[in-house]
Amino acid sequence: MKLRIAIQKAGRLHEDSVRILRDCGIDLNNGANKLKTEASNFPLEVFFLRDDDIPQYVEDGVADAGIVGENIVLERQKQVHVLERLGFGRCRLSIAVSRTLNYHSLADLNGLRIATSYPVIVGKFLEKNHIRAEIHEISGSVEIAPGIGLADAIGDLVSSGSTLFMNGLQEVETILASEAVLIAAKSLSVDRDLVLKKLLFRINAVRKARNNKYILLNAPNDKLKQIIGLLPGMKSPTVLPLAEEGWSSVHSVVNEDDFWEIIENLKANGAQGILVVPIEKMIL
Ligand code: ATP
Ligand code: MG
Repeated sequence: MKLRIAIQKAGRLHEDSVRILRDCGIDLNNGANKLKTEASNFPLEVFFLRDDDIPQYVEDGVADAGIVGENIVLERQKQVHVLERLGFGRCRLSIAVSRTLNYHSLADLNGLRIATSYPVIVGKFLEKNHIRAEIHEISGSVEIAPGIGLADAIGDLVSSGSTLFMNGLQEVETILASEAVLIAAKSLSVDRDLVLKKLLFRINAVRKARNNKYILLNAPNDKLKQIIGLLPGMKSPTVLPLAEEGWSSVHSVVNEDDFWEIIENLKANGAQGILVVPIEKMIL
């Protein structure tokens, strides 16, 4: 039995969604403008859909799983499980107002007209903060609403903020930090659930690998102890003698987040010839 997964047909999440499946070793038969495709080496069928529709399809059981922004999951309020954050499609849902408005606090939103494509999330945010404002639901180009007099503020997705800037807006409140997530239907047949677990296992291995680097370096033996102390590795670093007397080669795995700091400390402790290579899969 094949697992049916829905991903975005075109747009910001499409490429990264395809890439994560490919990085899981899944071969997708490529075909532009196709509605669906099958993997040749994994029991998976991929549907290409508009992101907004994905939670509904998963709830209805038309698809078993999906890759979609958390923002869409929260807005649509469908009965689906969120299984894993995927580390791409990062953005935030924020409130922005005209730069000419002298904004001090949330209370300044009282009485404003707020244009958004996310009436549920924005509505809940206002309610939680006891703000009385009027929500105008619009489906696209939200950022131009204040400029054309349709609204006083907007609730929209932001990543760099350049769109807001170009439209004379300032970001004043962040409601939600979002990224792409893997969602699944609440109940799946036993065999589909098994495929989903396999997929999840692979996604985990890919995610960990993306967050880590393999590092190789040469260390003078009299500094080995300090250098090993800087490199926890998966169990402990591998140490091999070099042909040159008094030197060793040290291999380990380092986390992306601490990467530059570790490199600086390694150099300060006499490490030389440091090589850093990407890891394809990582299974702990
Ligand atoms: P579709 O045609 O599938 O409905 P769309 O136009 O609604 O596409 P995109 O603009 O491609 O959607 O955005 C898809 C998702 O990418 C968003 O729901 C969000 O999770 C994420 N995203 C990341 N950065 C941004 C950003 N700066 N603006 C909008 N969405 C972003
Ligand atoms: Mg959409």
